[in-house]
Amino acid sequence: MRAIILAVGTELLGTDRLDTNSLRLTEVLRAHGVQLLRKAVLPDLEAVVAAELRRAFADADLVLISGGLGPTADDISREAVAAAAGVDLTLDPSLLAGIEKRFARMGLRMPETNRKQAEVLSGATVLSNRRGSAPGQLLEVGGTAVFLFPGVPNELDGMVASALEPWLEERAPAGERIETVTLRVACLPESEVEARILPAYAEFGREDITVLAALGDVRVRATAGGGAEGRHARLDAMRHRLAALLGDAVYAAGGGDVESTSLEAVVGRALAERGQTVAVAESCTGGLISERLTRVAGSSAYVLGGVVAYANAVKSSLVGVEAGVIAAHGAVSESVARALASGACRVVGADWGIGVTGIAGPGGGSAEKPVGTVFLSVACAGEVVSVAQLRLPGDRERVRLGASQFALEMLRRAVFALPPLEPRTWGSAQPSPASA
Ligand code: AMP
Ligand code: MG
Repeated sequence: MRAIILAVGTELLGTDRLDTNSLRLTEVLRAHGVQLLRKAVLPDLEAVVAAELRRAFADADLVLISGGLGPTADDISREAVAAAAGVDLTLDPSLLAGIEKRFARMGLRMPETNRKQAEVLSGATVLSNRRGSAPGQLLEVGGTAVFLFPGVPNELDGMVASALEPWLEERAPAGERIETVTLRVACLPESEVEARILPAYAEFGREDITVLAALGDVRVRATAGGGAEGRHARLDAMRHRLAALLGDAVYAAGGGDVESTSLEAVVGRALAERGQTVAVAESCTGGLISERLTRVAGSSAYVLGGVVAYANAVKSSLVGVEAGVIAAHGAVSESVARALASGACRVVGADWGIGVTGIAGPGGGSAEKPVGTVFLSVACAGEVVSVAQLRLPGDRERVRLGASQFALEMLRRAVFALPPLEPRTWGSAQPSPASA
């Protein structure tokens, strides 16, 4: 079964109202294995909605319309369906009586404008609305079933449960669902991820694999539908193939985009399993790495603490970075990153130490060290095991976030004893080889 969702409401085309109803509807479709062909957000214009409906009738077995069932002049969904399907709209006296009763129960007389909510498409089934005055409707047009739902999310929700889900349960083959697995990759550019997974496109089809890029965090999503046995087999096959193609760049793979698959959670679990601890000495990230590590519940098992060593004097007094090293190389330098990482281990008494120093901008850059220059280091038991020099693109916030992502990925690779990031990695990163 193939579906199309139409979210009707001029306000949804502005900047302050989001179409959330289509997400709710999509959730239900996926739970019944129904493929969503497309969705559209449309203005309250009868001709526009009718034109979209004609295309939808040709393409889909199921069309879900949200909104436009109210009593005011801009509520045109009923009229648009009537026009597109070529059917009449007639006043249903019992429906009218019901709406009048609803108002009477609240001690009100039904306003004249509400009469149009009692107009029913000929041949349609009325879907009762226990949460509001706008009844829904279900109409068969050729081979396509069309549902009209109210736009108020709470009312739509009620009708989804009372009408759409039972309808789908009867028609969609039992046990069919659409499911997605997500593989997460840190610090590889989107194009590099794409290049690595090209063979999987050929083997499984391009339409079931999507690459979603965020800052230093690419998600590869594989989707499968149908019955449980075939679906699970296909999902497992895609997941294994993608994992093999992406190699140790994958830091998490799972059924959803849940918190437990975040990079900090993955690193945290690895530390907890090994009974190891970490400490952070960070300059340009100003505590962001500590914040991310401690965002994970249970992080007290492995995070000992951290120092925001922003001023040079604090780098020396609290982390033990020698003033001479800062004077010789500058506060933003590989030497200082190394001293911060090993200092974090020593001062706090942690197994692992992270050191970060850089220029987040917008000021402070130079020809030699432009804004976005970041030096990172990871130490184990006070000895440096990995260093990287980055040139991160973007504004202050992106540089700081990118640096934190890179630091956590360096720690993950060190904890799992993976080789350090390759020189071609993300941004214009040029990690130098590990040396103790
Ligand atoms: P309507 O049924 O078109 O009169 O919509 C009633 C209310 O529900 C309006 O205030 C809308 O902002 C809200 N609404 C309509 N469509 C949606 C949608 N797709 N997602 C979330 N809210 C909506
Ligand atoms: Mg509306």
